Amino acid sequence: EQKLAARLSSVTPSVTLVISQLARRLASQGRDIINMSSGELDFDTPQHIQDSAFTAMQVGQTRYTDVGGTAELKASIIEKFARDNHLAYSAKQIIASTGAKQIIFNAFLATLDAGDEVILNAPYWVSYPDMIRLTGAEPVAVVPAPHEGFKLTPASLAAALTPHTRWLLLNSPGNPSGALYSTDELRALAEVLKDYPRVLVMSDDIYEHIVYEGEFVSFATAVPEMADRTLTVNGVSKTYAMTGWRLGFAGGPEWLIAALAMLQSQSTSCPNAIAQAAAIAALDGPQHLLAEWCHRLRRRRDSALNILRQSPDLSVETPPSAFYLFVGCEKLLGKTTPTGKTLNSDLDVAEYFLEHGGVAVVPGTAFGMAPYFRLAYSIADEDVNRACQLMVNACEALL
Ligand code: PLP
Repeated sequence: EQKLAARLSSVTPSVTLVISQLARRLASQGRDIINMSSGELDFDTPQHIQDSAFTAMQVGQTRYTDVGGTAELKASIIEKFARDNHLAYSAKQIIASTGAKQIIFNAFLATLDAGDEVILNAPYWVSYPDMIRLTGAEPVAVVPAPHEGFKLTPASLAAALTPHTRWLLLNSPGNPSGALYSTDELRALAEVLKDYPRVLVMSDDIYEHIVYEGEFVSFATAVPEMADRTLTVNGVSKTYAMTGWRLGFAGGPEWLIAALAMLQSQSTSCPNAIAQAAAIAALDGPQHLLAEWCHRLRRRRDSALNILRQSPDLSVETPPSAFYLFVGCEKLLGKTTPTGKTLNSDLDVAEYFLEHGGVAVVPGTAFGMAPYFRLAYSIADEDVNRACQLMVNACEALL
């Protein structure tokens, strides 16, 4: 019998699937498709990191390791948190996992019961709500007002909190918005949480090093008095162009880290040993490349903004961080394509950009906020420019 577990009924099929399937179909027909839908850097993993992985294989670091990562890797992670975030963790407060994604999922699995709630703000990373629902808990998405810069405010947080709230999920720099919270903003949110001792805070810092204006501050750095109920999530994927290596890490209270390790021990055993060795090289090695990459990404961001702003139908703020633009497309709704189709939603807009312009973007609906679309400018400079021009042209072709 091809019957799936009841819990899977709470998981929604990804909106992005529609676009990526269409993109693949068009590409297989020989169309030139520029893919701006994927959340990863186009840079190669730096040579010294590759080298350390190769050496690890040659010296036999090819076996299972400690469940939560090797002692050496944990030491590098402790040093990273101290250096970048002024956070002091002991080895028992650290875990390494198969991507930040595994940590986030396991943290929810370890702490949420049916009826619990997790507050997050739209636009949010697509995976959060489904991870939360899989545990039987409920995502409570707060949609910010236009002037709030895609950020949660103390007032909106206060309105969303209930006796069932278990987590506040923060993602700064934000995917897809590129929003960056200041120390004062984080402290103001913490002030609201003071009356809710049951609420844990997840600080998803995965885009920490991709900041163009302003300064990144982790929640536990801004609010040290709440460090004992904060899980600080990070990883090497976005910082070192290592998405495929699958290595994430976190610092947090011992009881929670122990629970994450327990889940890991019974599901995936340990993160990939070779990726762990590579992560040590990434964290301990030279960091000057990050500033260079940021410089290149910022140029891409600015030229994408310049081109997109030529269209009166698109509205986009300058995001201070991450490598996405979250573009408002309300003025396109109701317009008609050259083939006679009316654009009724941001899904229609994304489909139109793909079919007419050959550019793949993700509709805002997938991130809980419409009508918008997200594009990743983490692709080659010339592709960024060409794709943005194609979208502007596609807007002009509408009736
Ligand atoms: N958190 C956010 C906000 C992300 O955008 C992503 C990846 O897209 C992740 C976490 C997962 O990163 P990892 O590759 O470490 O699993």
